[in-house]
Amino acid sequence: MTLYFGVDVGGTSIKTALVTEKGEMVTKSSFATNPHRCPEDVCNELQGVLHQAVEKAACSMSDVVGVGVGLPGFLDLQKGEIIKLPNIGWERVPFIQIAESAFHLPVVMENDAKVAALAESWIGAGQHALALGCVTVGTGVGGGFVVHQRLYRGVNGMAGEVGHLTVDKGGLPCHCGRRGCLETVASATAMVRRAKELQASGQLSDEIAIDEAKTIFDLAEKGDNIAQQIIDEAADWLGFGLSIIAGTVNPDTILIGGGISKAGDVFLRPVTEAFRRYALHLVADACTVRAAKLTNDAGVIGASRLVSQRESLRR
Ligand SMILES: [Zn+2]
Repeated sequence: MTLYFGVDVGGTSIKTALVTEKGEMVTKSSFATNPHRCPEDVCNELQGVLHQAVEKAACSMSDVVGVGVGLPGFLDLQKGEIIKLPNIGWERVPFIQIAESAFHLPVVMENDAKVAALAESWIGAGQHALALGCVTVGTGVGGGFVVHQRLYRGVNGMAGEVGHLTVDKGGLPCHCGRRGCLETVASATAMVRRAKELQASGQLSDEIAIDEAKTIFDLAEKGDNIAQQIIDEAADWLGFGLSIIAGTVNPDTILIGGGISKAGDVFLRPVTEAFRRYALHLVADACTVRAAKLTNDAGVIGASRLVSQRESLRR
């Protein structure tokens, strides 16, 4: 039996699963992310979780061939280092070295949005895609390209960083240190910020506190035109961003995943309309935009897929 241990490190929780060669989850679990804990501590806890999972699945540690980890931020894959995880605070961490000494197994890592793209291409909504673009919209905007089932990483692993495409020159500041990135206008965070601005100026009722994008979608569903306008503006920016991606990569499929995809067609429809408006027709006509399928499990499944393809990784 061959099993992979997939780990998805997120800003609020760390998810894990033992996954088979077919992408089926044998066990899964999660625990809360504590930003004050060091990577050594977290890897040691994960090692304990792996042993419990092996016991629960009634298999043996020798069945587990490696550990794949999805991480939310910038990574140096050549050195096996975390450059920066903005939501967790880890910076310049020799992660592969720390994790391999905790697990006593080969460990591979990748940016979380790229891991999600890989999962969708393996057993999700992008299974039959030849050239797949996957865009994750939540707190930020992430992305990944999978061509013929393999992640396209570019020269230093930064291919697919669509959230930091400059779409609004001189626009709002972004945590990457620049301005006007796609995620400053098209993420859930951007929508909440815009809603608060409109509440402050009196254009949107401040009877309800808006701390998450879901509240904006709820208001729009009840017929609030300003809330609908916030959604449409973010969707327009995202569709514009997709047109740039598609014009460069010429994919047959673009998937929208992440927290905001739970809104369904209310968001997907205006995104697709904007995409078709901005993209070259020959590009748009060859491309389907639809929702990602795996949502919460994409991280652990994609991280497992990384292990199964590990011979292709340069570390
Ligand atoms: Zn940025």
